[in-house]
Amino acid sequence: MSANNIASPELMEKLVSLCKRRGLIFQSSEIYGGFNGFWDYGPYGVRMKRALENLWWKNMVDCRMDVEGLDSTIICHPKVWKASGHIEQFSDLMCDCKDCKTRHRVDQMPDQTVCTNCKSTNLTEQREFNLMMKTYVGPVFDEDHIAYLRAESCQPIFLNFQQVRIATRQKLPFGIAQIGKAFRNEINPRNFTFRSREFTQMEMEYFCYEETSMETWEYWKNERIRFYREKLNFTDDMMRIHEHEKLAHYAKAAVDIEVKFPFGWGELEGIHHRGTWDIARHQEFSGADLEYVDENGKRTIPTVVETSVGLDRTFLAVLCNSYYEEEAATQKEGKETDVRVVLRLPATIAPVQVAVLPISKKLSENAQKLYQDLAGSYRCEYDVTGSIGKRYRRQDEIGTPFCVTFDFDSLEDNAVTIRNRDTMAQVRVNTAQLKAYFAEHLEG
Ligand code: ATP
Repeated sequence: MSANNIASPELMEKLVSLCKRRGLIFQSSEIYGGFNGFWDYGPYGVRMKRALENLWWKNMVDCRMDVEGLDSTIICHPKVWKASGHIEQFSDLMCDCKDCKTRHRVDQMPDQTVCTNCKSTNLTEQREFNLMMKTYVGPVFDEDHIAYLRAESCQPIFLNFQQVRIATRQKLPFGIAQIGKAFRNEINPRNFTFRSREFTQMEMEYFCYEETSMETWEYWKNERIRFYREKLNFTDDMMRIHEHEKLAHYAKAAVDIEVKFPFGWGELEGIHHRGTWDIARHQEFSGADLEYVDENGKRTIPTVVETSVGLDRTFLAVLCNSYYEEEAATQKEGKETDVRVVLRLPATIAPVQVAVLPISKKLSENAQKLYQDLAGSYRCEYDVTGSIGKRYRRQDEIGTPFCVTFDFDSLEDNAVTIRNRDTMAQVRVNTAQLKAYFAEHLEG
């Protein structure tokens, strides 16, 4: 049995339980009964989340000459959200079941006249519900001091467009990227971290001339699919492109990259042609000059192509795609095999890339030295407790690609055993060659 059945409904249950047990993801405020739509990343979760961020940043910013980075505030001037249209339009239709009191997001109901929970048809009128989260800035809690937590991380990119351009001397076309939190008062948070009220987005706004904007949009669509294929090992049968039927009035094209989750297909990333809407609106509402002036003095409002992905959804998609249960040999008494749970994570994002496991506590001093040596270059863990078989299984469950076993022979021959997560094959490698070995196998 080797089961990676993304379509299986039990997979979600197994993943949620694994995430909690192994410190990947916890429910926020769990000791108070949890807080719906909020999640904490535990010790292994935060390592993998950062690695995913870094992988995206490396590909979208560091390796490119035409994309700059930004780290802006979560709260910005309230007028930003008037200009962007969020205060007026960023809403979902909702209704309540008068019998069981369940609140529904109307577009998620298979039949809008029937409660999905209790099947009653006794529903309230549908009404608009704005998803922006409000707070107050300053000592007075009144209408004049309302501010909003950003609902998407991209708006501050538009506000900073001209400053970034001047500071970096970039010319059209170029992009600005940002990773950061976004907040939405989702009516119905669900499917683990897939629909949360606080989440992280990784967004890149690419500014170009209108004439070449459709080619730019095609380019980014292909680039982002390539990223999932090559960097996260997503296969073509687990990804699909969803074309938007209804486009925003300012947009020329929009697609979502959807991924197959155990609960069905879900949006992972949007690649949107946003026209000149954002820059034009902020220019109008702020009075600032946000136009681009070329070498010949020609003024242009740049056209924007956006790539916008949820980090939490990417994390979840990677987990779903990596989870396997398989029959494996065991040293447990009375058994020849048992079920091993293994996360076949890409090595570049595994929470632990190398686990250092001394065969005996007596070898701690040398094994810890080895750990210190590797920990500067890779995400490492040192584990000395339990039988070696149990320790391997613990590492398999969190997706550690390599375990390094330090034994008594290591003291004599300066070599260690490297055990491969996926094949479970073992090789003996001289410690002097370890770094070269991992450079080859871990750096993507
Ligand atoms: P959906 O239709 O699922 O509500 P959306 O079209 O509103 O998503 P966008 O506004 O395009 O989403 O946001 C870009 C990305 O941010 C999405 O593709 C998704 O990965 C992520 N995202 C959006 N809303 C949430 C949420 N509530 N929880 C987690 N991630 C989210």
